[in-house]
Amino acid sequence: MNYIYSNYTKYVNFFGKTNPLELIKKYGSPLYVYNENILRQRCQQMKNLVTYPNFSVNYSTKANSNLYFLNVVRDEGLNVDAMSVGEMSFELKAGFDPAQILFIANNVSAEEMKFAIDNKIKISVDSLSQLETYGKINYGGDIVVRFNPGVGAGHNKKVVTGGKNTKFGVTPELIPEVKNILKKYNLNLIGINQHIGSLFMDTEPYIDSVNSILAIAEEFENLQFVNFGGGFGIPYYKQNFQMRLNISLLGEELDRTIKKWVKKCGKKIHFKIEPGRYISAECGVLLGTVTALKQNYENKYVGTDLGFNVIERPILYESHHDIEIYRDEPSTSFDIEEVTIVGNICESGDILAKYRNLPKIKEGDIIGVVDAGAYGHVMSSNYNLRLRPAEVFINKADTDILTRRRDTINDLFAPYLI
Ligand SMILES: *Cc1c(COP(=O)(O)O)cnc(C)c1O
Repeated sequence: MNYIYSNYTKYVNFFGKTNPLELIKKYGSPLYVYNENILRQRCQQMKNLVTYPNFSVNYSTKANSNLYFLNVVRDEGLNVDAMSVGEMSFELKAGFDPAQILFIANNVSAEEMKFAIDNKIKISVDSLSQLETYGKINYGGDIVVRFNPGVGAGHNKKVVTGGKNTKFGVTPELIPEVKNILKKYNLNLIGINQHIGSLFMDTEPYIDSVNSILAIAEEFENLQFVNFGGGFGIPYYKQNFQMRLNISLLGEELDRTIKKWVKKCGKKIHFKIEPGRYISAECGVLLGTVTALKQNYENKYVGTDLGFNVIERPILYESHHDIEIYRDEPSTSFDIEEVTIVGNICESGDILAKYRNLPKIKEGDIIGVVDAGAYGHVMSSNYNLRLRPAEVFINKADTDILTRRRDTINDLFAPYLI
């Protein structure tokens, strides 16, 4: 078939043996589509980041918690992070061993901690008060503490999670107090972790933060591991030829930093990273349908079924996603026009892509939102009582399989008692 504007998905053969039009016809619109081969490549790239042997990758499930997705991640030999009881439950359901899961708790209740303890899942706490809470319910247990080394990075202030202006982590000045609480409850500090923020595109902030947490690691005797966090960025501006994060350079620098520290301290401990977006973002394309076109004063609007109930990132972080256009039409004139692509939610902020220069779009065209595999479906909602989309995988054989059906109206009624 002829696509109008689809360089990226064509280049990576994203849709395998099928195509966006067929997929929408078969599964309805909107639709999240993931490519299993890309997912596997990203897992392997992260697993092979360094040559230091005691190294593992905890995929951050919050970026994409589709069960089939988690199964592939497990099959590739990765471990996982969880942020909630729901995520731990999904990970267990996907066959992860409790020992492969780390619950990264932030302001959680004692009941949530208890769920992890009962399931033999290790917990990372990120404040003195949460460390006390843990000590009270699991005297003598193993614990991980998240530190905030005062370095942050990220694409938007909402996702910078390290540094002096965020709610996360224990500041290094409080190390003596951490030690007091550990002693008071006879806790065994098995690891420390950090996460400086999301979507860095240079190696420097990450390596800086690695050095900071390694300095903190020297304060503790019996650590089994240090977890450096995630945040590895992906190029969202592919149509503008944005450079990729230089992963091999980052790997080399990380390797060198780790080996130097190990040599200096004589501790052959385990190191972890916890990428979410890097593994999942580029595996996903969100498909939707153009339902209306209009000119409102100065602006040309393309109306679609891709409201912020389906993909929230653009309005939450003002983030950019490249847009592709699929239409089976042999002769295409490439008249470019500036359009704003919007959804069908009753709010004026419901904007998917602002002032984009794109080939002329027609009613009925299928739109592709590129790099939608991270923080996409997981952030979708039933706002306006709309149905969250189905999720389809293009599997290793390049064939489509439905992994999660679309919500039904009955799913919306289900929790009601009266
Ligand atoms: C969200 C999160 C990650 C993953 O972040 P990405 O930017 O998706 O790589 C890793 N660690 C923690 C603690 C997080 O909260």
